[in-house]
Amino acid sequence: MTTALADTEDLDELRSRIRSFLQNAPKPDGLRNYGPTPTADDIEPGRAWHKYLAEHGYVCLHWPKEYGGADASVAFQAIFAEECARAGVPRQLGITAIDLVGPVLIKFGTPEQKARYLDPIRLGDHVWTQLFSEPGAGSDLAGVRTRAEKTDTGWRINGQKVWSSAANSAQYGLLLARTGPEQHAGLSMFIVPMDAPGVSVRPLKQMDGESKFNEVFLDNVELADDALIGEPGQGWAIALVTLGRERLTLGTQAVAMFKLHERMVQAARDRGRLDATLSRSLTRLWARMWLLRYTWQRAIEGGDLTSPAFSVLKLMTSETDRDLGDLATEVLGTDVCVDPTAGTDDADLVRAMLVGRAQTILGGTSEIQRNILGERVLGLPKEPR
Ligand SMILES: Cc1cc2nc3c(=O)[nH]c(=O)nc-3n(C[C@H](O)[C@H](O)[C@H](O)COP(=O)(O)OP(=O)(O)OC[C@H]3O[C@@H](n4cnc5c(N)ncnc54)[C@H](O)[C@@H]3O)c2cc1C
Repeated sequence: MTTALADTEDLDELRSRIRSFLQNAPKPDGLRNYGPTPTADDIEPGRAWHKYLAEHGYVCLHWPKEYGGADASVAFQAIFAEECARAGVPRQLGITAIDLVGPVLIKFGTPEQKARYLDPIRLGDHVWTQLFSEPGAGSDLAGVRTRAEKTDTGWRINGQKVWSSAANSAQYGLLLARTGPEQHAGLSMFIVPMDAPGVSVRPLKQMDGESKFNEVFLDNVELADDALIGEPGQGWAIALVTLGRERLTLGTQAVAMFKLHERMVQAARDRGRLDATLSRSLTRLWARMWLLRYTWQRAIEGGDLTSPAFSVLKLMTSETDRDLGDLATEVLGTDVCVDPTAGTDDADLVRAMLVGRAQTILGGTSEIQRNILGERVLGLPKEPR
């Protein structure tokens, strides 16, 4: 593994090294920047790309060195994510295994669990899915109803999950399930082999034509004792470790927004639609994007992922992205009715508009971010619960 990365403190120097590495890297056929989650068709090129990054020390940047990571600073991780977005490549095979499961196993896993699962994650051999959300538990994750009952040999799982990204390609799931009646202390975390009898996965088709989400049904799934992560009742504390990592992808989103803005301006100009009203909307968003860019830079230089700046950034970036996507209707006029999977320039703008809806939901909805900011940052009275 190369460590050429770590031998400079100069962030501009680091950025230029990463940029030239990515430019010169051979790209597998069919590789595209599919975002945090690959579709089934993205797995093969995504895995080959991931393995190339792993060979050169560019995966698991936030993991400790003893597990094959780079112990990299927040700024380093953010710059790498941004440069990948700029180069139009994914930064790893999928977000769940490396960003969520890895840190959980490193912190709470037994030596056997670490030895068994971490290396295949690092090398891109295993895809994982996050089995947290349920039809009745999303923002209110503590409302999880999927049950795990103790048996003589381990645990029996019954319930349903939804919005499970990449579950149709995953070897394992990180499952939050109820082992007791207490709201938080009654939750536990498990590892579920996705090919275990009783696990069925039903892909959901999204309005952008892709199928990244799934419903997952768990019917009398028998798990061994060693499927439990940590102690029974520790599930909530473990779930909290997984939250916040996606904040690092905000910079990636910012790069994508600048590219999208450029394409919107061009498409409007080509159609003779760049009138005063549309120009004003585009300019307002452009100014907001620069404000976010600088706030983002300050936040990553601060290096504290728990800083309130990230909550503001999450809220504002998601809403700016959505608003920018929405301009597709004004830019394209009636051409907005194009099939989003058509692969044309117009179709890409329409897809950006449709995908933009997800940004204000994933990783905590805008309403929840506002609650967090109001209660924890501004110290306003708590909402009635
Ligand atoms: C792209 C994407 C990928 C995802 N991947 C996964 C995954 O891999 N695994 C997984 O488990 N989940 C995943 N999710 C699910 C995601 O975590 C949930 O969608 C999210 O937590 C919101 O939950 P919900 O959809 O149940 O909406 P709800 O919680 O039902 O919310 C519905 C509406 O009510 C509002 N609301 C809820 N509570 C409050 C409140 N207290 N105050 C004010 N307003 C409120 C919300 O803001 C929202 O507008 C993904 C979602 C997206 C969009």
